[in-house]
Amino acid sequence: MREGVTVQTLREFCQRFVEAEAGRSGNGGWWKAPLLATGPIDGRFGALRRIAADDHFHPKDLLPTARSVVVFFIPFREGLARENSEGDRPCRSWGFAYVQTNELIGRLSSGLSDLFRERGFASALTPATHNFDEERLMARWSHKHLGYLVGLGRFGVHSMLITPSGCCGRLGSLVTEAELGDRPLVEADEACLLRAGEECGQCMGACPVDALGENGFDRRRCWQRLKENRNTLDYFRDLPESTHVCGKCVALMPCSFRNPLTTSLGRRSRKLVPSR
Ligand code: SF4
Ligand code: SF4
Repeated sequence: MREGVTVQTLREFCQRFVEAEAGRSGNGGWWKAPLLATGPIDGRFGALRRIAADDHFHPKDLLPTARSVVVFFIPFREGLARENSEGDRPCRSWGFAYVQTNELIGRLSSGLSDLFRERGFASALTPATHNFDEERLMARWSHKHLGYLVGLGRFGVHSMLITPSGCCGRLGSLVTEAELGDRPLVEADEACLLRAGEECGQCMGACPVDALGENGFDRRRCWQRLKENRNTLDYFRDLPESTHVCGKCVALMPCSFRNPLTTSLGRRSRKLVPSR
Protein backbone atom coordinates (compact mmCIF):
# COMPACT_ATOMS: atom_id res chain seq x y z
CA MET A 1 0.00 0.00 0.00
CA ARG A 2 1.20 3.52 -0.80
CA GLU A 3 2.00 5.86 2.07
CA GLY A 4 2.36 9.62 1.49
CA VAL A 5 5.78 11.23 1.31
CA THR A 6 6.17 14.92 2.12
CA VAL A 7 8.87 17.32 0.99
CA GLN A 8 9.65 17.94 4.66
CA THR A 9 10.33 14.22 5.13
CA LEU A 10 12.75 14.31 2.19
CA ARG A 11 14.52 17.43 3.46
CA GLU A 12 15.00 15.94 6.92
CA PHE A 13 16.18 12.67 5.41
CA CYS A 14 18.81 14.53 3.34
CA GLN A 15 19.96 16.55 6.32
CA ARG A 16 20.42 13.46 8.50
CA PHE A 17 22.14 11.62 5.68
CA VAL A 18 24.71 14.38 5.04
CA GLU A 19 25.36 14.82 8.78
CA ALA A 20 26.01 11.09 9.14
CA GLU A 21 28.34 11.15 6.15
CA ALA A 22 30.48 13.82 7.83
CA GLY A 23 31.28 11.31 10.57
CA ARG A 24 31.86 8.52 8.08
CA SER A 25 34.36 10.42 5.91
CA GLY A 26 36.77 10.84 8.84
CA ASN A 27 37.61 14.53 8.28
CA GLY A 28 34.40 16.04 9.63
CA GLY A 29 33.03 16.26 6.10
CA TRP A 30 33.16 18.91 3.40
CA TRP A 31 29.47 19.72 3.57
CA LYS A 32 26.85 21.99 5.05
CA ALA A 33 23.09 21.41 5.33
CA PRO A 34 21.58 20.32 1.98
CA LEU A 35 18.67 21.99 0.19
CA LEU A 36 15.93 20.23 -1.76
CA ALA A 37 13.17 21.43 -4.11
CA THR A 38 10.53 19.53 -6.05
CA GLY A 39 8.24 20.11 -9.00
CA PRO A 40 5.39 18.18 -10.63
CA ILE A 41 6.15 16.80 -14.09
CA ASP A 42 4.20 19.31 -16.13
CA GLY A 43 4.73 21.34 -19.29
CA ARG A 44 7.79 23.17 -17.96
CA PHE A 45 10.03 20.16 -18.62
CA GLY A 46 9.29 20.43 -22.32
CA ALA A 47 11.75 23.34 -22.25
CA LEU A 48 14.71 21.08 -21.44
CA ARG A 49 15.53 20.40 -25.09
CA ARG A 50 15.59 24.12 -25.77
CA ILE A 51 17.45 25.41 -22.70
CA ALA A 52 19.76 22.46 -21.92
CA ALA A 53 20.46 20.10 -24.86
CA ASP A 54 18.43 19.10 -27.89
CA ASP A 55 18.60 15.43 -26.84
CA HIS A 56 18.01 16.03 -23.13
CA PHE A 57 15.87 13.36 -21.49
CA HIS A 58 12.37 14.21 -20.38
CA PRO A 59 11.74 13.05 -16.77
CA LYS A 60 9.27 10.49 -18.11
CA ASP A 61 12.02 9.01 -20.31
CA LEU A 62 13.63 7.84 -17.06
CA LEU A 63 10.39 6.58 -15.55
CA PRO A 64 7.14 6.74 -17.59
CA THR A 65 5.01 6.64 -14.42
CA ALA A 66 6.95 9.45 -12.68
CA ARG A 67 4.92 12.37 -11.27
CA SER A 68 7.61 14.56 -9.65
CA VAL A 69 11.20 15.72 -10.07
CA VAL A 70 13.36 16.07 -6.94
CA VAL A 71 16.61 18.10 -7.04
CA PHE A 72 18.97 18.58 -4.10
CA PHE A 73 22.05 20.72 -3.49
CA ILE A 74 24.87 19.85 -1.09
CA PRO A 75 26.86 23.02 -0.24
CA PHE A 76 30.58 22.86 0.53
CA ARG A 77 32.01 24.40 3.68
CA GLU A 78 33.67 27.82 3.43
CA GLY A 79 37.08 26.47 4.49
CA LEU A 80 37.23 24.25 1.41
CA ALA A 81 36.37 27.16 -0.89
CA ARG A 82 38.95 29.35 0.84
CA GLU A 83 41.64 26.74 0.26
CA ASN A 84 40.63 26.37 -3.38
CA SER A 85 40.62 30.09 -4.03
CA GLU A 86 44.44 30.22 -3.82
CA GLY A 87 46.38 30.19 -7.08
CA ASP A 88 45.31 29.15 -10.57
CA ARG A 89 44.99 25.41 -9.95
CA PRO A 90 42.54 23.49 -7.76
CA CYS A 91 43.88 22.28 -4.42
CA ARG A 92 44.12 18.61 -3.52
CA SER A 93 41.19 18.94 -1.10
CA TRP A 94 38.94 20.23 -3.88
CA GLY A 95 39.62 17.16 -6.00
CA PHE A 96 39.18 14.84 -3.04
CA ALA A 97 35.94 16.57 -2.02
CA TYR A 98 34.66 16.21 -5.60
CA VAL A 99 35.23 12.46 -5.48
CA GLN A 100 33.71 12.02 -2.03
CA THR A 101 30.75 14.25 -2.90
CA ASN A 102 29.96 12.25 -6.02
CA GLU A 103 29.94 9.12 -3.88
CA LEU A 104 27.72 10.86 -1.34
CA ILE A 105 25.30 11.99 -4.06
CA GLY A 106 25.09 8.42 -5.31
CA ARG A 107 24.36 7.06 -1.85
CA LEU A 108 21.92 9.82 -0.97
CA SER A 109 20.05 9.34 -4.25
CA SER A 110 19.83 5.60 -3.58
CA GLY A 111 18.69 6.33 -0.02
CA LEU A 112 15.90 8.57 -1.31
CA SER A 113 14.99 5.93 -3.85
CA ASP A 114 14.75 3.31 -1.06
CA LEU A 115 12.58 5.67 0.98
CA PHE A 116 10.19 6.04 -1.95
CA ARG A 117 10.15 2.30 -2.58
CA GLU A 118 9.33 1.56 1.07
CA ARG A 119 6.33 3.91 0.72
CA GLY A 120 5.21 2.17 -2.49
CA PHE A 121 6.61 4.57 -5.14
CA ALA A 122 9.08 3.73 -7.87
CA SER A 123 11.84 6.22 -8.74
CA ALA A 124 14.73 6.54 -11.19
CA LEU A 125 18.03 8.39 -11.17
CA THR A 126 21.17 9.09 -13.20
CA PRO A 127 24.83 9.54 -12.07
CA ALA A 128 25.95 12.80 -10.41
CA THR A 129 28.31 13.56 -13.28
CA HIS A 130 29.86 12.30 -16.53
CA ASN A 131 26.44 11.59 -17.98
CA PHE A 132 27.29 13.92 -20.84
CA ASP A 133 28.49 13.75 -24.41
CA GLU A 134 32.23 14.55 -24.38
CA GLU A 135 32.12 15.81 -27.97
CA ARG A 136 29.35 18.33 -27.47
CA LEU A 137 29.95 18.72 -23.73
CA MET A 138 26.22 18.64 -23.11
CA ALA A 139 24.53 16.51 -20.47
CA ARG A 140 21.48 14.49 -21.44
CA TRP A 141 20.36 14.84 -17.83
CA SER A 142 21.38 18.23 -16.42
CA HIS A 143 20.89 18.52 -12.66
CA LYS A 144 21.46 22.27 -13.05
CA HIS A 145 18.65 22.79 -15.53
CA LEU A 146 16.32 20.56 -13.55
CA GLY A 147 17.23 22.57 -10.44
CA TYR A 148 16.38 25.74 -12.32
CA LEU A 149 13.00 24.38 -13.44
CA VAL A 150 11.95 23.28 -9.94
CA GLY A 151 13.11 26.57 -8.40
CA LEU A 152 16.14 25.35 -6.47
CA GLY A 153 18.14 28.29 -7.84
CA ARG A 154 18.93 30.57 -10.75
CA PHE A 155 21.86 30.58 -13.17
CA GLY A 156 24.79 32.90 -12.60
CA VAL A 157 27.13 34.33 -15.23
CA HIS A 158 29.43 31.43 -14.33
CA SER A 159 26.77 29.00 -15.57
CA MET A 160 26.32 27.51 -12.10
CA LEU A 161 23.07 27.40 -10.18
CA ILE A 162 22.86 29.96 -7.34
CA THR A 163 20.64 28.59 -4.57
CA PRO A 164 19.66 30.23 -1.26
CA SER A 165 22.86 28.58 0.08
CA GLY A 166 24.96 29.73 -2.87
CA CYS A 167 26.55 27.92 -5.78
CA CYS A 168 29.60 26.31 -4.14
CA GLY A 169 28.55 22.68 -3.87
CA ARG A 170 27.08 19.91 -5.96
CA LEU A 171 23.68 18.82 -7.22
CA GLY A 172 21.80 15.56 -7.56
CA SER A 173 18.33 14.66 -8.77
CA LEU A 174 15.82 11.89 -9.28
CA VAL A 175 12.29 11.33 -10.53
CA THR A 176 9.57 9.55 -8.58
CA GLU A 177 5.99 8.37 -8.82
CA ALA A 178 5.17 10.23 -5.59
CA GLU A 179 3.18 13.45 -5.95
CA LEU A 180 5.24 16.03 -4.09
CA GLY A 181 3.87 19.25 -5.54
CA ASP A 182 5.66 22.45 -6.44
CA ARG A 183 8.09 23.28 -3.63
CA PRO A 184 10.59 25.84 -4.95
CA LEU A 185 13.12 27.70 -2.84
CA VAL A 186 13.59 30.59 -5.27
CA GLU A 187 10.99 32.19 -7.52
CA ALA A 188 12.72 35.44 -8.44
CA ASP A 189 14.01 35.77 -11.99
CA GLU A 190 17.65 36.23 -11.00
CA ALA A 191 20.07 35.35 -8.22
CA CYS A 192 23.24 36.65 -9.92
CA LEU A 193 24.28 40.24 -9.27
CA LEU A 194 25.47 40.94 -12.80
CA ARG A 195 22.45 39.36 -14.44
CA ALA A 196 20.25 41.51 -12.21
CA GLY A 197 22.00 44.65 -13.43
CA GLU A 198 24.25 45.16 -10.42
CA GLU A 199 28.03 45.33 -10.30
CA CYS A 200 30.01 42.11 -10.01
CA GLY A 201 31.74 39.90 -12.57
CA GLN A 202 34.10 38.43 -9.98
CA CYS A 203 33.68 34.92 -11.39
CA MET A 204 34.86 36.13 -14.81
CA GLY A 205 37.97 37.64 -13.24
CA ALA A 206 38.68 34.43 -11.30
CA CYS A 207 38.65 32.11 -14.33
CA PRO A 208 42.24 31.26 -15.24
CA VAL A 209 41.41 30.61 -18.90
CA ASP A 210 38.89 33.39 -19.59
CA ALA A 211 36.11 30.94 -20.25
CA LEU A 212 33.43 33.20 -18.78
CA GLY A 213 31.87 36.24 -20.39
CA GLU A 214 28.83 38.27 -19.52
CA ASN A 215 26.93 36.75 -22.41
CA GLY A 216 28.25 33.24 -22.56
CA PHE A 217 30.37 30.40 -21.29
CA ASP A 218 33.10 28.77 -23.40
CA ARG A 219 32.49 25.23 -22.20
CA ARG A 220 35.21 23.75 -24.40
CA ARG A 221 37.87 26.02 -22.93
CA CYS A 222 36.69 25.16 -19.42
CA TRP A 223 36.65 21.42 -20.16
CA GLN A 224 40.22 21.55 -21.52
CA ARG A 225 41.31 23.16 -18.28
CA LEU A 226 39.55 20.53 -16.16
CA LYS A 227 41.22 17.73 -18.10
CA GLU A 228 44.60 19.46 -17.94
CA ASN A 229 44.29 19.75 -14.16
CA ARG A 230 43.55 16.03 -13.85
CA ASN A 231 46.41 15.05 -16.15
CA THR A 232 49.14 17.36 -14.88
CA LEU A 233 48.69 17.82 -11.13
CA ASP A 234 50.81 15.32 -9.22
CA TYR A 235 48.53 15.48 -6.19
CA PHE A 236 45.57 14.27 -8.30
CA ARG A 237 47.41 11.19 -9.50
CA ASP A 238 45.73 8.79 -7.04
CA LEU A 239 42.25 10.22 -7.67
CA PRO A 240 39.87 8.70 -10.24
CA GLU A 241 40.34 9.52 -13.93
CA SER A 242 37.03 11.36 -13.80
CA THR A 243 38.31 13.96 -11.29
CA HIS A 244 37.79 16.90 -13.65
CA VAL A 245 37.78 19.95 -11.41
CA CYS A 246 38.77 23.59 -11.15
CA GLY A 247 36.17 25.55 -9.14
CA LYS A 248 37.91 28.94 -9.22
CA CYS A 249 34.70 30.63 -10.37
CA VAL A 250 32.68 29.39 -7.36
CA ALA A 251 35.26 29.86 -4.59
CA LEU A 252 34.73 32.91 -2.37
CA MET A 253 32.41 34.71 -4.79
CA PRO A 254 29.52 36.93 -3.56
CA CYS A 255 27.22 34.08 -4.61
CA SER A 256 29.32 31.19 -3.23
CA PHE A 257 27.36 30.67 0.00
CA ARG A 258 24.17 32.67 -0.40
CA ASN A 259 21.90 34.30 -2.88
CA PRO A 260 23.49 37.76 -3.07
CA LEU A 261 20.20 39.35 -4.10
CA THR A 262 18.44 38.57 -0.84
CA THR A 263 17.36 41.39 1.48
CA SER A 264 19.33 39.88 4.35
CA LEU A 265 22.45 41.36 2.79
CA GLY A 266 20.80 44.72 2.44
CA ARG A 267 20.67 44.40 -1.33
CA ARG A 268 17.71 45.01 -3.56
CA SER A 269 15.01 42.42 -2.94
CA ARG A 270 14.16 40.37 -6.00
CA LYS A 271 11.02 38.69 -4.78
CA LEU A 272 12.94 35.84 -3.15
CA VAL A 273 10.65 33.24 -1.72
CA PRO A 274 11.91 31.72 1.54
CA SER A 275 12.16 28.00 2.23
CA ARG A 276 8.87 26.25 2.49
S1 SF4 B 1 30.37 36.07 -9.04
FE1 SF4 B 1 28.95 37.77 -9.40
S2 SF4 B 1 28.66 37.83 -11.64
FE2 SF4 B 1 29.56 35.85 -11.12
S3 SF4 B 1 27.77 34.49 -10.89
FE3 SF4 B 1 28.28 35.26 -8.85
S4 SF4 B 1 26.98 37.06 -8.56
FE4 SF4 B 1 27.00 36.58 -10.77
S1 SF4 C 1 35.60 25.85 -13.65
FE1 SF4 C 1 37.55 26.96 -13.88
S2 SF4 C 1 37.97 26.96 -16.08
FE2 SF4 C 1 35.82 26.45 -15.83
S3 SF4 C 1 34.74 28.41 -15.98
FE3 SF4 C 1 35.10 28.05 -13.79
S4 SF4 C 1 37.05 29.06 -13.36
FE4 SF4 C 1 36.91 28.86 -15.59
